Amino acid sequence: MRRVYADLHIHIGRTSAGEPVKITAARDLTFENIARECATRKGIEIAGIVDCGSPAVMADIDRMVEAGEMIELPRGGLRYRDATTVILGCELETVEEDGGASHHVSYFPGREEMRVFVGLLRRLVTNLNLSSQRCRVPARKLMRMALQAGGVFVPAHAFTPHKSPYGSCVRRLTEMFGEEGMAGLAAVELGLSADSFLADRIAELAPLTFLSNSDAHSLPRIAREYNVIEIPSEREGDDENGGPCPTFQDVVWALRRENGRRVAANYGLDPKLGKYHRTFCPACERITPLDPPVVKCDLCGSEKVVKGVLDRIVEIADYPEPRPPAHRPPYRYQVPLQMLPGVGAVSLGKLLNRFGTEMKVLHEARAEELELVVGRKLAEMIMRAREGTLSMRAGGGGRYGKPVTDGADMQLSLGLGQ
Ligand SMILES: [Zn+2]
Ligand SMILES: [Zn+2]
Repeated sequence: MRRVYADLHIHIGRTSAGEPVKITAARDLTFENIARECATRKGIEIAGIVDCGSPAVMADIDRMVEAGEMIELPRGGLRYRDATTVILGCELETVEEDGGASHHVSYFPGREEMRVFVGLLRRLVTNLNLSSQRCRVPARKLMRMALQAGGVFVPAHAFTPHKSPYGSCVRRLTEMFGEEGMAGLAAVELGLSADSFLADRIAELAPLTFLSNSDAHSLPRIAREYNVIEIPSEREGDDENGGPCPTFQDVVWALRRENGRRVAANYGLDPKLGKYHRTFCPACERITPLDPPVVKCDLCGSEKVVKGVLDRIVEIADYPEPRPPAHRPPYRYQVPLQMLPGVGAVSLGKLLNRFGTEMKVLHEARAEELELVVGRKLAEMIMRAREGTLSMRAGGGGRYGKPVTDGADMQLSLGLGQ
């Protein structure tokens, strides 16, 4: 078995010509820079880019394929420098009949299928060049369109308070997709404020594979959450050297747990670190300290709160404790290197020089080796991040939680925001 790291939710900030795609995302977050970052610094071998439906982005992709910088794989996906397979995705916002809005990502094998899908969207989306645009249909209809075009469909950050199925639309996905529609879902993305332990308290999610993705709006944030995908190592190769390289087909099989592929582990932030973990009152500017579910402010009584993901899950849960199905892989808490106190550009540069990629630093480097590069204190911190033993203070209302040690807050080395 070969284990590859996959982050399937990465946004694009600008096209190579500087046209905006996601206005709130970083300017250097272009298609090409994402592929390079994943290949050379992150060690992410499967990268799902979710703004590929934009015709302006598509023009960038066409240029790279024509220049031979990327190769379209026969089983889907675009191979970059024999290091990273890019999966073309398109995140859109749908609207239910009663007005609830949610985000979903459709993934396609290649440019041709993406063009067919975008063709179906023309009359439903006002500005196709921009990211995560509102598509004037309910989610089940968008799912049918994605499947029709040859893609797969995944509800995004399923529990976040503003734009998600459970967070702002329904108590059950079956209300959105119908019992028969559930088979059309390839997986469910948990989002930064949830994990498998929380999601496995909802019975209808048992058959579905969970994804933990970064939803990155900047290059450093790629792979702050990711998945380990297992593919057989002995098989017909898809890349030009004949060696095995992951394809779109492998990803789909992994999500469906077919043909020896599967998601073997989820790596993510402790949900406490997510910025919507607990209920937040904007009037009091306060994250609730009370036991969940808190659905109104415990200080001023206001019901205009940003409901926490934890509070929402407890509110709608079928079970008081998680009941993971036998196929559920482990969910491991990990703090991304950039969020570790004391890891700045200099120490990160040293680590990458020595070990190659962030995935190698996080998964393979031994404590003694780390210590030689960045000293004992940072080496210990990285080991604790790897083992998930850093303690955290909860986030809420759009503010990230923080690692804490010995009761004292530590400085986050990277600012807040996306
Ligand atoms: Zn979204
Ligand atoms: Zn997104």
